[in-house]
Amino acid sequence: HSSSGTEELLKRAKQKNDTGQNKEEMMEGRLKQAIHNQSLSLVYQPQVDLHKEKVIGVEALLRWNDEVLGCVAPLTFIPVAEKTGLIKDIGLWVLEEACRQASLWKKEGLPVRMSVNISAVQCRDREFIQQLGEIIRKTDMNPWLLSLEITESFLLSQLQNGQEVLEGIKELGVHLSIDDFGTGYSTLSYLKNFPVDSLKIDQSFIRDVLIKEKDEVIVTSVIKLARNMNVKVVAEGVESSEVLTFLKENDCDEVQGYLYCKPLPPHEVTPFLLDGSARQILS
Ligand code: C2E
Ligand code: MG
Ligand code: MG
Ligand code: MG
Repeated sequence: HSSSGTEELLKRAKQKNDTGQNKEEMMEGRLKQAIHNQSLSLVYQPQVDLHKEKVIGVEALLRWNDEVLGCVAPLTFIPVAEKTGLIKDIGLWVLEEACRQASLWKKEGLPVRMSVNISAVQCRDREFIQQLGEIIRKTDMNPWLLSLEITESFLLSQLQNGQEVLEGIKELGVHLSIDDFGTGYSTLSYLKNFPVDSLKIDQSFIRDVLIKEKDEVIVTSVIKLARNMNVKVVAEGVESSEVLTFLKENDCDEVQGYLYCKPLPPHEVTPFLLDGSARQILS
């Protein structure tokens, strides 16, 4: 009896090992040490203004290269960080690092708008506005050069004090952008009620915009909507010159994507920030 009990225990332990649960616990443990280990870093992807034909901004994207786990993709570890609350410290680290880099570029004569992704969990409490203000002061960041990218799920989960948080961000002079526009629940009411400066059309609509008629209708309609609401519109995931031409013809304001540049470490982005560096590809 007892030997079969032991066998059962061993079997269960193995099963647990085979499930994702242990992996997630492991990831959580490693993630806890990530800031201290200096295994987090930021890469930056240029954002090109189609009217001015130059790079006017960069988006900071988090990378995690763990000693044990290797490189883990944000889409894998950010949900774990959100679930465990670790995203609060990680998010503050990202904000400070991105602001520091933007300040540095500005001092080098390369002022550039810095976009930072913000998770819903990160700013659930009111402290966030105060922390944001502190980071801006500490890093000597121009708040009007900072843009926070939030997702529709953020807006949705924040129905009660969402307005307050977003207004606090605006009071600091920081820009607000809706990320992955069109992929969550209806966003139209948020465009109406919240002080949004720009929206980013999700790459899932951009990818096949020339192949799928419905995507084309959605993209052109969203651009018109944004224009009429006096909100800037950015297309994400532009990978081909044909799509770029389409977006230019349809009066999109800004693009980012592999066609122009992959997310890169800061020293590799600097050349792209020099005036006129976007002309080659756009003309
Ligand atoms: P996102 O904010 O929508 O970022 C765009 C994602 O698309 C990035 O993936 C970027 O590398 C990728 N991308 C850019 N251009 C192209 C393209 O032309 N084609 C394709 N196929 N992909 C392109 P990444 O870096 O893996 O980040 C994934 C998501 O993870 C981000 O989506 C964002 O939601 C989240 N994330 C990344 N960094 C942070 C962060 O610091 N904080 C938070 N809260 N979330 C972050
Ligand atoms: Mg983003
Ligand atoms: Mg996006
Ligand atoms: Mg996305």
